[in-house]
Amino acid sequence: MKVAVVTGASSGIGAATARALSKAGFHLCLGARRVDRLESLAREVGGSAFPLDVCDTESVRTFASRLPSRIHLLVNNAGGALGLDPVIEMDEAKWLTMFQSNVLGLVRMTRELFPRLDQEGEGSHVVNIGSVAALETYPGGAGYTACKHAVRAITETMRIEWLGLPIRVTEIDPGLVETEFSLVRFAGDSERARKVYEGMTPLVAEDVADAVVWAATRPPHVNIDQILLKPRDQARADKVHRKGNSP
Ligand code: NAP
Repeated sequence: MKVAVVTGASSGIGAATARALSKAGFHLCLGARRVDRLESLAREVGGSAFPLDVCDTESVRTFASRLPSRIHLLVNNAGGALGLDPVIEMDEAKWLTMFQSNVLGLVRMTRELFPRLDQEGEGSHVVNIGSVAALETYPGGAGYTACKHAVRAITETMRIEWLGLPIRVTEIDPGLVETEFSLVRFAGDSERARKVYEGMTPLVAEDVADAVVWAATRPPHVNIDQILLKPRDQARADKVHRKGNSP
């Protein structure tokens, strides 16, 4: 059975991806900080759950040491945004956390698991969850968009550096997805989070999970380099059609 590792599987896109990969026949190894949620998901999908803080090198090492010796799919999903502040109001702690989780965390995980990525048979696959923020910028988004632009650069570099190895590399770049993302971004302010999706139909986590599973289940000679998926109501990162508003 193929082994898939999903980071940030305790909610949103990570949890939906774990469920979808399980249906597609993968054995799941799940990581995140909220272990109670992970354990209940692991029971549901029949996989394993271990604590993981991608911001902490030691935690990543311990997590990796608990995984099977061969991994076929790594989904680097853990991350998110903190705040929506203009550049000149940068909150250093928030920016550091964003870079730690979205950027360094992704590289730490990949570096640690690389020796276990299967290089025989059909090979293996690393899927990085980027964002429309990997391709565009918007006011107040600099900390987060800089992180996801970095994910874009790192993913492209992995693709080039691993050319010739049987390891596929994919970046999935979603637009607005209704998860806990905005609740986290606005420090638990549920009213502000709700407004992000007001009057429009966002993607749901399962839409992104679909894209991950599709990329992961192509024939082994096919590399899906990038998937950009947005709600029909969103044309650009900050260009959203809302009911009652002219386009
Ligand atoms: P979410 O519901 O808030 O989920 C974020 C996940 O990341 C949680 O499981 C969280 O788990 C985990 N995480 C955060 N920091 C972590 C850390 N230091 N170590 C381990 N796990 C960590 O948001 P989501 O929308 O599913 O986000 C998943 C990914 O999609 C993120 O990379 C995000 O940037 C990206 N994305 C989201 C959207 C969107 O609109 N929602 C759009 C484009 C891209 P714990 O808190 O339990 O650790």
